[in-house]
Amino acid sequence: MEIVHQLIPIEKIEERVSDIGRRISEDYKGKEIVLIGILKGAVIFLADLMRKIDSNQLTVDFMGLSSYEGGTRSTGVVKITSDLKRSIEGIHVIIVEDIIDTGLTLNFLTQNLALKNPASIEICTLLEKPSNIQKPISVKYKCFEIPDKFVIGYGLDYEGRYRNLPFIGVLEIKED
Ligand code: 5GP
Repeated sequence: MEIVHQLIPIEKIEERVSDIGRRISEDYKGKEIVLIGILKGAVIFLADLMRKIDSNQLTVDFMGLSSYEGGTRSTGVVKITSDLKRSIEGIHVIIVEDIIDTGLTLNFLTQNLALKNPASIEICTLLEKPSNIQKPISVKYKCFEIPDKFVIGYGLDYEGRYRNLPFIGVLEIKED
């Protein structure tokens, strides 16, 4: 049986997303930026965030990565399942991620993107579980730090489900 406990209500999410959008608008004034959304978990966060960024120099692109094979444990293996559609050379990149757990995914991704000569690379994440970090990474924009629990909703899934929940919840799985 699966039980969902609400962890972060939508009002709090909206408040933080607006704050971060405002900061990005100021930090990148007059600069060309591309938000790179990591599929599929960051899609809802990215959609809300981009509308809070005041810029006419903003584009978006997406990458598909997998380090989880559908369950709740990291495999430590990161695969690119879908790559960027346009060059990022000379452009300021902000990677938009749903959650940083071990940091393995973003460590791999920032190294990979740096080879493409962007003007800069920063990370913007909705959530971070600080207790699990294995590869330290510098995160410029972060909405929330959360305890080491498996979370779902607002884009995050369990076996492909629960992305549509309008809040962030903790998933409890009871064996029966
Ligand atoms: P990392 O490489 O930092 O360990 O893992 C990052 C990826 O693991 C995230 O993009 C996400 O897909 C997945 N992940 C880590 N923790 C959770 C969690 O609590 N819930 C969900 N749904 N995915 C998670």
